[in-house]
Order: sequence, then structure tokens, then C-alpha cells
Amino acid sequence: MAGLATKHLNNLHRRDFLAGAALIDGRWIAGEQRDVVVDPATGEEIADAARCSGVDMNRAIAAAERSFAAWRELLPANRAAMLRSWASLMLGHLEELAILVTSEQGKPLAEARQEIAYGAGFLEWFAAEGERAYGETIPSHKLGSILQVRMQPIGVAAAITPWNFPIAMITRKAGCALAAGCPVIVKPAPETPLSALALARLAEEAGVPRGVFQVVTGDPVELSTPLLRDTRIRALSFTGSTEVGRFLLQGAADTIKKVSLELGGHAPFIVFDDVDLEKAVKGAVAAKFATSGQDCLAANRIYVQGGIYNAFVEAFAAAIAQLKVGHGLEPEVDIGPMTKLSVANKCSGQIYDAVKKGARAFSAHRGASLGPNFVAPTLLSDVTDDMLIAREETFGPIAAVLPFGSEEEVIARANANEMGLAGYVYTDSLRRALRLSEQIECGMLGINTASFTGPPIPFGGWKQSGLGREGSRHGLAEYMELKYVCFGDLLA
Ligand code: NAD
Repeated sequence: MAGLATKHLNNLHRRDFLAGAALIDGRWIAGEQRDVVVDPATGEEIADAARCSGVDMNRAIAAAERSFAAWRELLPANRAAMLRSWASLMLGHLEELAILVTSEQGKPLAEARQEIAYGAGFLEWFAAEGERAYGETIPSHKLGSILQVRMQPIGVAAAITPWNFPIAMITRKAGCALAAGCPVIVKPAPETPLSALALARLAEEAGVPRGVFQVVTGDPVELSTPLLRDTRIRALSFTGSTEVGRFLLQGAADTIKKVSLELGGHAPFIVFDDVDLEKAVKGAVAAKFATSGQDCLAANRIYVQGGIYNAFVEAFAAAIAQLKVGHGLEPEVDIGPMTKLSVANKCSGQIYDAVKKGARAFSAHRGASLGPNFVAPTLLSDVTDDMLIAREETFGPIAAVLPFGSEEEVIARANANEMGLAGYVYTDSLRRALRLSEQIECGMLGINTASFTGPPIPFGGWKQSGLGREGSRHGLAEYMELKYVCFGDLLA
């Protein structure tokens, strides 16, 4: 594994993707100070990136504000053309971007390729959606008046993005903001600056004007402080932990920003005993182990009904044993390293806690021996509601299976969590599927499928999983203000 990422990065044609320079006010800023970027699989330094200061961020805010009027006044079709061109440049550089993602984030290359296509999809989606930001005309309640509601861009937007989807979380936010007519400043996660900066190179090539899309890398607190305090930042979109989301929401209160938050999840995955076992196991593997488990949609509690519990555990263990663990740049790998050591440590803590309280642990792998950031895919069966893994987000390749008896019981247990992002239900009964689709408390629910995300869907959660929606036709609302206009006295 040693040197694998460096070898791939050395072969990139786009050397500028490795420059690690921030894009502020149309200029590439190398920064007086630099932060190292490491390959999470090996801990090796693979590049470095500008550590921008609060002063740099203030310059970015000023540049974004200057660019706003001209960007807002462009025809939506002109903005759409740039977004489409940006998407097509991403697809044209798919392999190079995927190598960057795997090298700094760790996910298997096949998943990184999927992320680039998924990420480009948001630019294409919002290119079209921006042209459909219709307002409305309201039947008047006043004689001789016409009542209109217009959608207008809110102003400069800020996006604070995570390391688990270092490309797609940027395009999902920025594509929407730009289509709405808002300049956007991105502060990417310090673990994955290269992907964000490569996107900035391609945005510039697509013709996105100076100041309209900027990427500022560096320390999260130093860079987010000016974003929170500045009244010129009108919208703030964040994806990451609930803890940081809460802190940002409080910080945005002083300047009353429009805040959208996509926070953690703790998805219940409910399997009734009328299902096709093979399909349910396949779904559970996909819902638990995609992105090596570092996914807010990940199944965190797999509830299996008594009648098929033992058969499910046996088949699920056999499927998990087939997963290949290794460096994401090695062929056929399913599970890469955790991007952050803290996530790997959290996984070990949850396993320890569950086993201590009576769960059975099964793993056919010795992932940990590959390096400190690796976590062996592990099945924990006989998990009970008092265990940490049944309450706190795991964000790693540990699958918790819990037995249940009745439908009423599992609905109550599934909803007994402060998170409400995603959920999954496997059943052969249409009536039961309809009942659960009404009663599970979450923003996104898959019935007999583990795969439902994409640009057309309103992505977001209930309860402490967040505020607002990304993607879909609803996404635009996060970056637009409604303006009601009453044209009065028209009969005079
Ligand atoms: P995090 O919330 O600390 O990081 C996400 C983003 O927030 C990054 O850009 C980071 O630089 C920024 N950030 C961190 N502290 C900040 C601060 N004080 N002010 C402003 N920005 C700040 O997440 P993490 O610590 O890297 O991961 C911890 C847990 O968060 C994970 O185990 C997982 O449960 C959850 N998480 C969820 C998602 C998701 O997709 N919803 C993504 C990443 C992490």
C-alpha cells in the first residue's frame, strides 16, 4: 500500500489539481502557511494545501458581494450553460477526480467514480431547475389588484462541506446556489481540500465569473467565524455532525442567516419475516457498507423479525465475509480506511461497549492490521437498545442487528431516536409498507430498496438530522427569498 496514492497522483496530467491553491477573487492563493494532506490508508503525506486566514475569508466575502449583482442579472439560461459546462468538465476529468478523492478520502476507486458522476448530476439538475424558479400569481382578495409572488436570490451563500463526499456535497450545495443566482463560498473539510480545489479549477474553466464560486481552505474555526459574523453572508449550508451543526446554527443567529443543515443519521433498517431473504441481505450490505460505512444514510440499526432472525444473521455474516478490505486504489476493494482516526476509534468503542453488554461480534477480516484507520467489517448480533451503537451514529463498517417481534414494537423502537434522516423497510406486504411509510419519522425512506438518492430527491432529515432540503425542486428555496408584490388600483 505504501506509496500507492503518490504513484497515482504523480501520473495525473492535471498537475494543477495538486497545487493546493485556494481560489479567492479570481486568484489562486498558495498561502503563506500550508496544511498537509494525507492518504488515510497509509498516513503518508501526499500533498499540501493553503491554510487561508480569516483575512483571506473576508476578501472572499467582499469579492462574492461584488460579483452578486452581475450574476443575479444574468439570464437563468446563461447560468445554466455554465453549470452544464462545469458538469461536462467534471465528467471529462472523471478518472483524475476519482483518484484525488480516493487518495485523500480513502473510499474505493469505483465508489469515487460514482461520486463524480453523482456530483456532476447536481450541476445538470440545477441548471434546469434554475430556469424553472417560477413564482406565482394569487387570486386577489382586493378589488382591482394583482398579487404576485416572485423568487429572488437571497445573496451570498456559504457552504461548509464534509470529507465523506468531498465532491458531491459541494456540487449539491453550490450548483443550487449558483442556479438560484447566488455567489457561493465553499469551506471544504481540511481532510479533503484537493477535490474541492480541483472543482474550483473546473468551475473557472467553465466560465464561472470571478468571485462567484470561491474555495477557501484552512482551519474550520478561523474560516467559519467571519462567515458567521458577516451580514453579507445571507445563507449558510452545512453538512456534517449534529454537534457542529448546532454550533453553526447558534452562530448564525446574530445575523439571522437562512441556515440549512444536513446532519447525522441513525437509519433504522427494518426486515419483516415475509421478505425474500437474499434481497434483504443484499440491501443491508449496500445500506450499511457503502462509503465504508461513512455515510449519513447508513443503516445503523438493522431490526430483523423473529421468524427469520437466525437465517438473516447467518446469511448477512456470510455476505460481509465476502467484502474485500484494502487501499481504495487497489482493485476490487469494497471497504477502504476511515478518513479520520477518530471515526475508527469510535467504531472500536461501539464494538467494545456492545460486546460488554452481551452482543455477539463476528468478523472474517483483520482490517485493523492494515493500519490504524482501518476497521474490519463487523457484524454485531443480539444488539439491544441500551448499547451505544443503538443510540449513537457509527459512521463505520459495523453492522448492528437487533431482533424484534411485532410491527408496533419496531415502529416505536425505530422512532425512539433523535435522528431522523433516512430509513429502510423490507416487506412483501403492500399494506404494511404503506403503514410504515406513514409512521417512520424520517426525511427519506426506502421501501424494499437501499438505493434511492440522486438529484431529483429532496435530501434532508427530520428532528436533529437537520433543517431544509438539498437537491430536487425544493432545494432552490434554501437560496431564494419570496417577494410578494401587490399591484393595486388597476381599475382606476
Ligand atoms: P465535523 O462536523 O466536525 O466536520 C464537518 C465539517 O465541519 C468540516 O468541513 C469541518 O471542517 C467543519 N467544522 C468542524 N468543526 C467546525 C467548527 N467548529 N466551525 C465550523 N466548521 C467546523 O465532522 P467530523 O468530526 O469530521 O466527523 C464526526 C462525525 O460527524 C462523524 O463520525 C459522523 O457521525 C458525522 N458526519 C456526518 C456527515 C454527514 O454526511 N452528515 C459528514 C461528516 C461527518
